[in-house]
Amino acid sequence: MNPSPVIGVLALQGDVREHLIALAAADAVARPVRRPEELAEVDGLVIPGGESTTISKLAELFGLMEPLRERIAAGMPVYGTCAGLIMLADKILDPRSGQETFGGIDMIVRRNAFGRQNESFEAGVAVTGIEDGPVEGVFIRAPWVESVGAQVEVLAEHGGHIVAVRQGNALATSFHPELTGDHRIHGLFVDMVRAAS
Ligand code: GLN
Repeated sequence: MNPSPVIGVLALQGDVREHLIALAAADAVARPVRRPEELAEVDGLVIPGGESTTISKLAELFGLMEPLRERIAAGMPVYGTCAGLIMLADKILDPRSGQETFGGIDMIVRRNAFGRQNESFEAGVAVTGIEDGPVEGVFIRAPWVESVGAQVEVLAEHGGHIVAVRQGNALATSFHPELTGDHRIHGLFVDMVRAAS
């Protein structure tokens, strides 16, 4: 049990700063990660929202794809939001050409799934393991989880679609809790990292 774990935020593209602030508010030591040496120093990692194709290409370019896959496979706690959820999927239903993921969660995701109906919206979402009422889910061209394997726990659904999941030390949400000032999901992730390190 490590009381103040060091948690990285993958800082290739996306809303890195908001996650750094939310993690610090949830009592973690938070720092950006861009290079394999920086990845080696963290106890857990957040993969932010942004654009999953861009994150995939930049991860290749920065030499992070393989080291990150290895650490996730070895059980490092990870939390992906929106594009980060896509990066944690073992399979994308509708990938752009050359788009790769880190994997770690046995699920198939559909990119921009909510976006086609409604580019961006907010909704209360009840999340298993989060007490004191629903979280305010901010969905921005959000993916949903089309299907999950037997090892995956579904933590939340919205409109009949899966929007939060956990498999072992990997957590993912379609929505962006880092944009709301409600740090309960970051708190849950910090607890996962504490328990693992
Ligand atoms: N639609 C984006 C993607 O495919 C995700 C959007 C987001 O992270 N807000 O990567």
